[in-house]
Amino acid sequence: MTDRLTLPRPDDLHLHLRDGAMLAAVLPESARHFARALVMPNLVPPVVTGADAAGYRARILAALPAGSDFRPLMTLYLTEATDAEDVVAAHAAGIVQAVKLYPAGATTNSASGVREIARVEGVLGRMAEAGVPLCIHGEVTDPEVDIFDREAVFIERVLEPLRRRVPGLSVVLEHVTTAEGVAYVRGGGAGMAGTITAHHLVLNRNHLLAGGIRPHYYCLPVAKREHHRRALVAAATSGAACFFLGTDSAPHLDAAKLAPCGCAGCFTAPVAMALLAQVFEAAGALGQLEAFACRNGAAFYGLPVNGGRLTLVRGAGGRAVPARIETPDGPLSVFDPGFAPLWHVEETDA
Ligand SMILES: [Zn+2]
Repeated sequence: MTDRLTLPRPDDLHLHLRDGAMLAAVLPESARHFARALVMPNLVPPVVTGADAAGYRARILAALPAGSDFRPLMTLYLTEATDAEDVVAAHAAGIVQAVKLYPAGATTNSASGVREIARVEGVLGRMAEAGVPLCIHGEVTDPEVDIFDREAVFIERVLEPLRRRVPGLSVVLEHVTTAEGVAYVRGGGAGMAGTITAHHLVLNRNHLLAGGIRPHYYCLPVAKREHHRRALVAAATSGAACFFLGTDSAPHLDAAKLAPCGCAGCFTAPVAMALLAQVFEAAGALGQLEAFACRNGAAFYGLPVNGGRLTLVRGAGGRAVPARIETPDGPLSVFDPGFAPLWHVEETDA
């Protein structure tokens, strides 16, 4: 049995770092294991211009632990007022890696998102010409559509028509949660990819709702039935180049999670790599973890594979992951899968 696995330092290609005190509290947890992350732009107010992204990037770099070479890859928040030339210039200057589409109202801080896709088609066309990828939160917000169906309906109503109208646009369907999403990404051809989170590989909706509600397992898109979780595991562990890791680690203070209207998001950054090792091992596919976490995403974004190494070790030992992190505004629980992880990341330096 393999009990050590050494990988190039991985990429987290979908991450929420927030800002201010929360940024300072959570950033070291990502920088500890990941060499790069694609940082989501849904701050309040959102990151909408190249100048906003440059400012946010500077705040992230300033909050890094001394000596860390973690590299934030920035995204812009697409609005119906986005200036295509600003996007293209920020991408060409290396300030921005991708643009994020949130349907208005789909998730945390998405009120400035897009209501009518037709209103952003001009920007998307310029992005296709300039090779700027579009990352999508793929859920419809139509209140008539059941929350468990919103991803599948989005693919049919929005994603497929959009890709036909804007050919050549590179698209990432973020945090895929359904068998339909997996099948769509797989069949999407060149320029189509999907990210998968660690928590959606271990949770189905029973974990969230059966035997008592578990607010720390509430995220968007919400976890689905077990057969969808299995489809995600099969996709992630397949080695297929179109699937790669985006943890969607999304910290909210416990006070905001454990509320009558609790926030969506799982703070998985400290445990994501250990969970992935366990899931891949259980699937008999530990050898594919490098493709999923280190190679496929880099290739999609045209980035070199990271230098440096991350070693995962099976069995006891290693740094105990804290159950929660203290911030100046209150505690923040780390995602607990409900079982003791068999793997841990070997921490070689302090
Ligand atoms: Zn997200």
